[in-house]
Amino acid sequence: MSEEIKAGRFGIHGGQYIPETLMNAVIQLDKAYTHYKDDPRFNEELTQLFNEYAGRPSRLYYAKKMTEDLGGAKIYLKREDLNHTGSHKINNVLGQALLAKKMGKTRLIAETGAGQHGVATATAAALFGMECVVFMGEEDTKRQALNVYRMRLLGAEVIPVTTGTATLKDAVSEAMREWTRRIDDTHYCLGSVMGPHPFPTIVRDFQSVISREIRSQMLEAEGRLPDIVMACVGGGSNAIGTFYGFIPDKDVRLIGCEAAGRGVGTLETAATIAMGKLGIFHGMKSYFCQDEFGQIAPVYSISAGLDYPGIGPEHAYLHDIKRAEYVPVTDDEAVCAFEYLSKTEGIIPAIESAHAVAHAMKIAPDLSRDKIIVITISGRGDKDCAAIARYRGEDISE
Ligand SMILES: *Cc1c(COP(=O)(O)O)cnc(C)c1O
Repeated sequence: MSEEIKAGRFGIHGGQYIPETLMNAVIQLDKAYTHYKDDPRFNEELTQLFNEYAGRPSRLYYAKKMTEDLGGAKIYLKREDLNHTGSHKINNVLGQALLAKKMGKTRLIAETGAGQHGVATATAAALFGMECVVFMGEEDTKRQALNVYRMRLLGAEVIPVTTGTATLKDAVSEAMREWTRRIDDTHYCLGSVMGPHPFPTIVRDFQSVISREIRSQMLEAEGRLPDIVMACVGGGSNAIGTFYGFIPDKDVRLIGCEAAGRGVGTLETAATIAMGKLGIFHGMKSYFCQDEFGQIAPVYSISAGLDYPGIGPEHAYLHDIKRAEYVPVTDDEAVCAFEYLSKTEGIIPAIESAHAVAHAMKIAPDLSRDKIIVITISGRGDKDCAAIARYRGEDISE
């Protein structure tokens, strides 16, 4: 086994379970990334894009009203919702687009579920003057028509995927197939810390700007590190970005909040750590929601950004070694937190992020006032207003 493959392992998880036809592409990508990640020019350019284009650093905001209302630990919000395009996705996309450009690629392809990663990729492609094709499950193109329009407005081609359940997992499979067909000029801009090595490492590194900023902002605000950092987990990119810089700090608890949908124990859930089993899918070994025959199970969550049947391999490993905790949060709890943060702080979070807010609401009251929690607000909630209204029995047209 080559060094590259070993480097892509997180305990027993990760690896490169891909067809021979993709091997050259991932080896080429791994070589390029290994070169550029330590290149000062590359990092200067990326920092400039983060600051000038994405609007970094994002604020670390002391949620005073929420803290006083819950009556326990002090709560800070890491405001990734304030980034350009409205979520943390832009951090990864700018990094990968810059890397692709350095590699001489002229075309970006991507998968998208709710459309957030597709919009971010189309945005970066517009900025870099690259061609862009986004694969999206046909079901999702109907549910997220506004984001399909956004991507086309930004100059991307959106291809509806009709195979399987016509949702996110099928879009990933189709993007991988397309990459096999056209490796020369195309980079596959994967949207989370998943897939074959080196993607989980590349995406983590680009997202770890979140924990680097939390550390320095917290040291400035409080003169010490937080006691708990927490984030929602779909594939796990905003969560690993939030955790990564704190992994060596054993006193900082890391909590990932999974989408339990209608509840762990029902069939309508996407809580992979709570319900999943070890498996191999989309090029990686990790935990996946599976049926009794080991087939990937259909998953459900009110939040389109969290209903992926797997979890990134580094999270699976952090769970195995008990460095991070993973907790399930139901639709109902997330919707209550969505409404609570809106009313209490005047901040409408993405329904994905509301899963983390919900868990903080559960634990903060029982923690003493000298404890500090940081919740990453991965995105803004404008996109979710119509769906939440519907959940509450109100029909508003978008
Ligand atoms: C895509 C998305 C997520 C889930 O993706 P991760 O890779 O788990 O971070 C969470 N929040 C928002 C706002 C998203 O757009």
